Amino acid sequence: MLSGPSGVGKGTVRQAMMKDHHHQDLQYSVSMTTRPKRPGEVDGVDYYFRTKEEFEHEIKNGGMLEYAQYVDHYYGTPLKYVNQTLDAGKDVLLEIEVNGAMQVRSKCPDGVFIFLTPPDLQELRQRIINRGTDDMATIDKRMQKAAEEIKMMTNYDYAVVNDKVELAVDRIEKIIASEHLRVSRVIDQYTSFN
Ligand code: 5GP
Repeated sequence: MLSGPSGVGKGTVRQAMMKDHHHQDLQYSVSMTTRPKRPGEVDGVDYYFRTKEEFEHEIKNGGMLEYAQYVDHYYGTPLKYVNQTLDAGKDVLLEIEVNGAMQVRSKCPDGVFIFLTPPDLQELRQRIINRGTDDMATIDKRMQKAAEEIKMMTNYDYAVVNDKVELAVDRIEKIIASEHLRVSRVIDQYTSFN
């Protein structure tokens, strides 16, 4: 599960990951949304574009793993595809905003939660102080936003800096590879003959 603050480049990193041919066992879960289609977007590929009524119908029928309202529109993860993919023994990649991520966290404790961070979050405080050019109001605003983002990060398993898309993808691939080796995930293969 890939999440993070808006504007950090989640979509770009996700697209780069899915282009990579190593990922035959990683399937991207196409989200459902009520926001209008942007030029070049394809229904069923980028999103399932639905009306508000259709989306609310899905919610009522229990068809969503999670959903959130983001800038006046619904966004959500259809449950069916996620279940089918997991049942087939494959990994599912969700790329969603933070409120949805927290819903998935409580429903799927087994999931791996990756927080994508902007490259300057770590050193933001020092840079702002050193630079000494921003007025107090700007410093306060930036620091407050950074503090909120860092607080959010504590709900995740991994923090990946998106300094360069290829580097971020590489870090995420390593996380996925390591997670597959967790004793809790492989123990059955060693003990099932008993
Ligand atoms: P955009 O409109 O730019 O495609 O997406 C806006 C935001 O919605 C992004 O932060 C994106 O990660 C998030 N988003 C996309 N799909 C989902 C989803 O299925 N559930 C949730 N909660 N957020 C989503």
